[in-house]
Amino acid sequence: MAEITQPATILAVTDLTLHVRQIVLKPKTSKISFHPGQWVSLKLPVGPKPPLNRAYSMADPSSPYGELTLVFDRVSGGLGSNYLYELRSGDEVLLSGPYGNFILPPQPLDQELLLIGRYTGLVPMRCLLKQMLFSKIQTPVLLIALAPNENEVLFHQEWLTTALQYPSFRYLPLVAQNGESEAVEKTLAMLAPLVKEQPKVAPMLCGTKAFVRPLRTFFTEKGYDRKEVKTETYD
Ligand SMILES: Cc1cc2nc3c(=O)[nH]c(=O)nc-3n(C[C@H](O)[C@H](O)[C@H](O)COP(=O)(O)OP(=O)(O)OC[C@H]3O[C@@H](n4cnc5c(N)ncnc54)[C@H](O)[C@@H]3O)c2cc1C
Repeated sequence: MAEITQPATILAVTDLTLHVRQIVLKPKTSKISFHPGQWVSLKLPVGPKPPLNRAYSMADPSSPYGELTLVFDRVSGGLGSNYLYELRSGDEVLLSGPYGNFILPPQPLDQELLLIGRYTGLVPMRCLLKQMLFSKIQTPVLLIALAPNENEVLFHQEWLTTALQYPSFRYLPLVAQNGESEAVEKTLAMLAPLVKEQPKVAPMLCGTKAFVRPLRTFFTEKGYDRKEVKTETYD
């Protein structure tokens, strides 16, 4: 698959929460086909040595017309995300991709898929889930979704609706206001009974290292091989 750098036009900008924004953009030179869970690299004209490369996961599966949906939060003092917040419909941004191996295990999967993400770490999960529903994949899924506060529970309505429609999808939102350590603590409290003396699940974890690494350790200490625990870290 060719991985060229090309300009993309911003088609739409939508605020999902006070601090999280979605942009839809369309690569101008060639369509980017990708697997859900993959990301593109934006080359931003900021910083001491531009371009500044920043990775963003696709939030929607590949579309026939080639638009890409990205969702990001404004990081306090962050050069890349603050630049993205300045962009408007019609603006252009350079990008390349797709990249990454944070993709679904081969189907059919005879294990429950356990997706755990914190905040914008839920973006690839959304893409994976939409693809699974679209493809009518029957694998049971438990999604544990961590939010930094009650107003920033990403994709909440969508996942509540999905849980009502699909009995094989379970959705567990958790709010942890005191950063990654509290998010890890709350997740582990949920995980222990779910994993104890149960058949192995297929875990996929996404967020910052401070969130993902202790959770990966939890699984490896329970006897999981490192390769059985898929991770994507944002920093
Ligand atoms: C494979 C991959 C996929 C990614 N996908 C997404 C995505 O879909 N959405 C998204 O918002 N970000 C995503 N990121 C993070 C993104 O690339 C940037 O790092 C983020 O936007 C911060 O960049 P910045 O230049 O604004 O701040 P920086 O100055 O680079 O970051 C400051 C610090 O913020 C922390 N940080 C990193 N990412 C985030 C974040 N998203 N929210 C809060 N703090 C963060 C890190 O500790 C970092 O050291 C992804 C990163 C990787 C490696």
